[in-house]
Amino acid sequence: MDLHEIQRRVWELVGEKDRMVGEMFLFSVLVEEIGELAEALRKKDKERVSEELADVMFMVMSIANQFEVDLEARLVEKYLSKSLEEISRSWRDVPWKR
Ligand SMILES: [Mg+2]
Repeated sequence: MDLHEIQRRVWELVGEKDRMVGEMFLFSVLVEEIGELAEALRKKDKERVSEELADVMFMVMSIANQFEVDLEARLVEKYLSKSLEEISRSWRDVPWKR
């Protein structure tokens, strides 16, 4: 199953419900899940990191679906079709750039 298919399945599962609750509610859940990911990272809990990354991805896809964003296409366009130099041009303070 590719990313496009997964996003479509998320739409089928929760798309209508997500439309009813609205994007700001979805965003607040995403932030909550990012907080849970931060805690898992801090504790170096590999199983929890895996679980929370899935939660974050699910919420990102929920929000993308509400705006008809094709995440697979955007990721390819924005990152995978560029060189590392182009991608990281505006990044500061990354250890490998020092
Ligand atoms: Mg979670």
